Amino acid sequence: MKTALHTEWTVKDICEGFVYNELEGKGLFGMNGRLTIQPEYQRNYIYADGKKDVAVIDSVLKGYPIGLIYFNKREDGQLEVLDGQQRITSLGRFVTSKFAIKQDGMEQYFRGIAKDKQDKILGTKLLIYVCEGTESEIKEWFKTINIVGVPLNHQEILNAIYSGTFVTLAKEKFSNSQNSNINKWSSYISGAVKRQDYLQCALDWVSKGEIEKYMSDHRHDTDINELENYFNSVIDWVDGVFVNIEKEMCGLPWGKLYEEYHSHPYDSVKVAKKQRELYEDYYIKNKKGIYEYILGDCKDNKLLEVRCFDEPTKKSVYTKQTNEAKAKGISNCPLCALGHDTNRSRIWKLTDMDADHVTAWSKGGATNISNCQMLCKTHNRAKGNK
Ligand SMILES: [Zn+2]
Repeated sequence: MKTALHTEWTVKDICEGFVYNELEGKGLFGMNGRLTIQPEYQRNYIYADGKKDVAVIDSVLKGYPIGLIYFNKREDGQLEVLDGQQRITSLGRFVTSKFAIKQDGMEQYFRGIAKDKQDKILGTKLLIYVCEGTESEIKEWFKTINIVGVPLNHQEILNAIYSGTFVTLAKEKFSNSQNSNINKWSSYISGAVKRQDYLQCALDWVSKGEIEKYMSDHRHDTDINELENYFNSVIDWVDGVFVNIEKEMCGLPWGKLYEEYHSHPYDSVKVAKKQRELYEDYYIKNKKGIYEYILGDCKDNKLLEVRCFDEPTKKSVYTKQTNEAKAKGISNCPLCALGHDTNRSRIWKLTDMDADHVTAWSKGGATNISNCQMLCKTHNRAKGNK
């Protein structure tokens, strides 16, 4: 099967002679009849909800990509949309004024919006893969793009869409396996350099998660200083705070953690000691959580997923507590038993109670039967919040 990437077709080209069948809810043809938008095997147009269709137009107006589109080229030269019919139908319906978008607080149809905006939409170039092959090849291909990922991953697509000076320089730095820094970076960043995972990470950090907007805004930049400086700041910060590198550090959201904690002072010797202690703690299930836990001054136990008491332990403690309580005529929740309301002598069912560390885990209390007590759910929650 042959595939070719086309980047020269504009919205205008695709929507030329657009035909939409209102009755069947189908976009039928584009490119002056050369393109079949809704081949029989495709689902009907489902974007006409005033949200998804409007979002397509908004993206185009803002210069954001609307993603890869796939065409199949038949033997007779006719093109069929394999993937992208919802987006194309949205574009076609908009430029033929079938639905309106909000502009400056007003509902506006294509024919009513400013000429420059009309031109922007019509002139937008799409990213289209044209595949040519037998029906079974096409079906196989269609399955692949729909189920197990596309030939290009998300960042690779963005690189294609926003190709230019900025991407070239950024790739030289972050997508180059010859870069001698990669080894160091790989302690903190997961994925493959060549699949653009490092570049994606650097962009994610500097843009605070708005990669596409950042790439669009910086497309024609002739340097990558901001990207590089920010990335180095994050790496240097992590490197300075945590001198001992562990495999769980790889792939953590360091950009976000940097934003939140970099102005807070840390004693790297104390941090290393705490880190070692926590790594040796059998009760900690989530070792990846250790880093944010330490950065947040060891307050948020939830990050560590401390091991709970197992069911046999809970049952055994429950039975013992309940028998003793019944003998004394008090509640089997030791905290209820101290109170003065009607719960003072209430016997809770096992399902109404939760296991609690008598001595808190954070104060060295073990997760074993001798440090377990059952509390009613209300008291357990109240204690846990302290
Ligand atoms: Zn209670």
